Amino acid sequence: MAISKSRSSTASLQKSNRTPAKTGATKTKRFKSAYSKDEMVEIFRRFSIQRPEPKGELEHVNPFTLVVAVALSAQATDAGVNKATRALFQIADTPEKMLALGEEGVISHIKTIGLYRNKAKNVIALCRMLIDEFGSHVPKTREELVRLPGVGRKTANVVMSMAFGIPTLAVDTHVFRIGNRCLMAPGKTPDEVEEQFLKVIPEEYLFHAHHWLILHGRYTCKARKPECEHCVIADLCRSPEKTFDIPAPLVELPPQIIGGAAL
Ligand code: SF4
Repeated sequence: MAISKSRSSTASLQKSNRTPAKTGATKTKRFKSAYSKDEMVEIFRRFSIQRPEPKGELEHVNPFTLVVAVALSAQATDAGVNKATRALFQIADTPEKMLALGEEGVISHIKTIGLYRNKAKNVIALCRMLIDEFGSHVPKTREELVRLPGVGRKTANVVMSMAFGIPTLAVDTHVFRIGNRCLMAPGKTPDEVEEQFLKVIPEEYLFHAHHWLILHGRYTCKARKPECEHCVIADLCRSPEKTFDIPAPLVELPPQIIGGAAL
């Protein structure tokens, strides 16, 4: 299995970035993963064979454009964000250039994305803060990232992982659904699911876990109806919604469904 180089180089950072979201111990005590440690290792081993080098599908050219793209992706699809940002990032790939466009200039590029007015306002405010407080660089710590307008814990985790190779687990709609549906990391809130997943994802698989779970949710364990007949963990899965018990053949997937491809 191919493991990203950046994972080993940041191994020492893993412990600190497994800092769970503050969810309150009494709430989360009731929820436990339905899987043993060995089963979780086997689940992620299979994901790693299907997608040896999973990639996010949000297009970006540097850490700054990644922050903007992730912030714009709230309640929008990656494909929709990519369509809007392709032209925007060609002319504004730094905080200074984005700021020079102004709110109306940003709006003219992103008005196909939901909540675009509010998002444009946040992008401009984010650029100001990056210039004024961070020397025009995207900060690397979660504490600093969540201070940026429009950047929450999920966005911060995505940026830390994708831009800086720091292993974290960002809980989006797919990760949240899989955590609960498959009883891997049940929780009522994204923070609770993040906390549970961080307890059960084998350390050696943490770096890519976010993308494996997202892609599994997007292409197989789909929101409306999971495609259990195409699932490589169908034999292990303990979801009450499971419709098939025989695992799909364990092979590396073709590029169009591996992630990183324009769909
Ligand atoms: S078996 Fe079905 S419910 Fe379980 S992870 Fe696979 S697709 Fe999802």
